[in-house]
Amino acid sequence: MRTDAVLLCLAVLSCRSTPAPKAPEPSPSAGPAAPEPAAASSVPPSPANPPATQVTGAQPPVPNAAGQPETPPAPVEARTSAVETPSAPPPGIDLSALDRTVNPCNDFYRFACGSWLARTPIPEDRPQWGRAFSEVLGRNEKVLRQIVEQDARGEPDPANPFAGMVGDFYATCMDEEKAETASFATLQRELQAIDRIEDPRALARRVAELHRGGARAFFGFASRQDSRDATHVIGGVDQGGLGLPDRDYYFRDDRKSQELRGLYLDHVARMLAMSGDPQADAHAHRIFQMETTLARASLDRVARRDPYKVYHRLDRAGLLTVAPHFEWNDYFAILGAADVQAINVTAPEFVRALDGLLARGNLDDLRTYLKWRAIEAAADMLGARFVDERFRYTRALTGAKVLLPRWKRCVQMTDRALGEALGRTFVTTTVGTEGKAMAKEMIVNIERAFEANLATLGWMDDAAKKASLYKLHKIDNKVAYPERWRDYAKLQIGRESLLENVLSAARFETARDLAKIGKPVDRGEWRMTPPTVNAYYSSSLNEMVFPAGIMQLPFFSPEAPVPSNYGGLGMVMGHELTHGFDDQGRKFDGDGNLREWWSPRVAKAYEQRAACVAKQYDRYVAVDDVHLNGRLTLGENIADIGGMKLMIAALRAKRQGQPPTNVGGFDDEQQAFIAFAQVWCTNYRPEAARTQALTNPHSTTQWRVNGSISDNPDFASAFKCARGYPMAPANRCTVW
Ligand SMILES: [Zn+2]
Repeated sequence: MRTDAVLLCLAVLSCRSTPAPKAPEPSPSAGPAAPEPAAASSVPPSPANPPATQVTGAQPPVPNAAGQPETPPAPVEARTSAVETPSAPPPGIDLSALDRTVNPCNDFYRFACGSWLARTPIPEDRPQWGRAFSEVLGRNEKVLRQIVEQDARGEPDPANPFAGMVGDFYATCMDEEKAETASFATLQRELQAIDRIEDPRALARRVAELHRGGARAFFGFASRQDSRDATHVIGGVDQGGLGLPDRDYYFRDDRKSQELRGLYLDHVARMLAMSGDPQADAHAHRIFQMETTLARASLDRVARRDPYKVYHRLDRAGLLTVAPHFEWNDYFAILGAADVQAINVTAPEFVRALDGLLARGNLDDLRTYLKWRAIEAAADMLGARFVDERFRYTRALTGAKVLLPRWKRCVQMTDRALGEALGRTFVTTTVGTEGKAMAKEMIVNIERAFEANLATLGWMDDAAKKASLYKLHKIDNKVAYPERWRDYAKLQIGRESLLENVLSAARFETARDLAKIGKPVDRGEWRMTPPTVNAYYSSSLNEMVFPAGIMQLPFFSPEAPVPSNYGGLGMVMGHELTHGFDDQGRKFDGDGNLREWWSPRVAKAYEQRAACVAKQYDRYVAVDDVHLNGRLTLGENIADIGGMKLMIAALRAKRQGQPPTNVGGFDDEQQAFIAFAQVWCTNYRPEAARTQALTNPHSTTQWRVNGSISDNPDFASAFKCARGYPMAPANRCTVW
């Protein structure tokens, strides 16, 4: 669950804003984590099958933590020179990626990416491979590996007080033998504790322990801003507790869905058996029945995008009434939120169904279900048998052929558990002061373009324009890394059990998160770690965040030509800004509050425009017979269409009065469009494309490019596309 009402990011399969080690994640979404209105990713989060650009731990820093050194630490000469940055592509557009046999007016994605797509295989251990996100991720992984290995060798970054902890975590993770023994022993203790549950109060206390350690049992609980009053941090109960990627997977009738259910059932049984359950098959069936009951009462992903449908301030008293068979008082006491009163419940019907399950269910079934949740959460930290069995299941969703090498999984786990401790050293090797200043200037230019465009909109009245301008001017921008790093001083990381370390990190994060309830909103918090190759907009905070991870080539470089910087990072900025005004974001005012701040007439005009976009993307095929879901992807598509308009307008303003450039025969604007498209050059395995289309709010990359390009008249002018070509249709959809 997310701490925020709506949080939308840029990249595919990676919109997990939820800190990974943190407890209550509603039905597996990655992402990106399934937040309040899910902008989530699809595949069960697991380092064994990472989505291509998995967003990892995103725990915000402790405000005013005692003894926090000012950040960022100054780069340390000796150390940074020892960290060799693997080579990035040359700055600017990649002419060798083009397929010049394709007419850009027919299929711009193929034109910009064709040769790259043909020559670039998907690595065996990946579900998909893209020219920007995946390659930057791959380079970041190597940089991070050098950092964690130095830390683990006993040569920790002297400027980072938590470098030793990072080293201990990584070293323990790399020790596969201890995963077989010490981690398995940790799991056995958890399972024995579940066996000792004899009554409803003990059950609730054990659910709280599981949540503290990051397991997804029954439902999720976390802090969040109150959508109706963004100055208040309250508690949030969300649906959850499923093992398949989404509630619809329990009910779809097609052959692939049936096969996947069979595979999942078999997977649950094998994992239970390996953990010592003599009745594993029968228990797996009972677990599946319970999950199906929960799935039936869960909101689907499209419904979860409506911030009104997930807002129900029942508070503690209401929660106790809706679900009297769960011992909430015991639960909150053990979780560490004994006094919480103000609570939003995203899906009251779900909580009611859960209550029915608890009222009817026998204790043996409930214990079995909780054991499965504990095993599932622990799987990646256990020995090879468990990791391999987990991969056997997740590969059906990703198509990956082999497991990621251990070091990559361990780098990801370290980032997830200790993201801001690791990120602290990472940023000294990447973004410099010059890059930060340039990026900030680009944001200003994008915001100016939004303001200029706002003045021209015929469908808005003056009141709505004025309020939108207020919202625009209130947006807070964060670039590269936090002003203040998280303080991990209270976290204990040992060198014995990886699972114990992961549980400790999750408990630390749960405590940090719940401590926010009832306190003023911390505006310094980051929901993505600095190495993350992604960006996000948060409606409740009304802020945009661009981590250091994405401020690299091919998105951006101080050395790159201006047009390619705008087509890359500038487009990302336009995209995130437009999220503030997409079909979800527009429902929150400049102060982050959910309310009707437009007249019904303006809102209706907006809805009509949005409906055009939904219909447009419904037509696109992701893979085989699977179409994109125009309503699920609506916010992202509006952000792409609007972002492109802003990017080109900002580029024009920036280049005004300067001599035009020419790269490979392409002028400034053509270069910007090509740079944008080349960020998205991606080869997918069919399984990954299917999972993305069914669960992810981002369209597949071909349509992110061709969909938004075809709605942009500046593109048609730049490439001289006559009206009627696929990239220059007679009827375009324009929201902003
Ligand atoms: Zn987005």
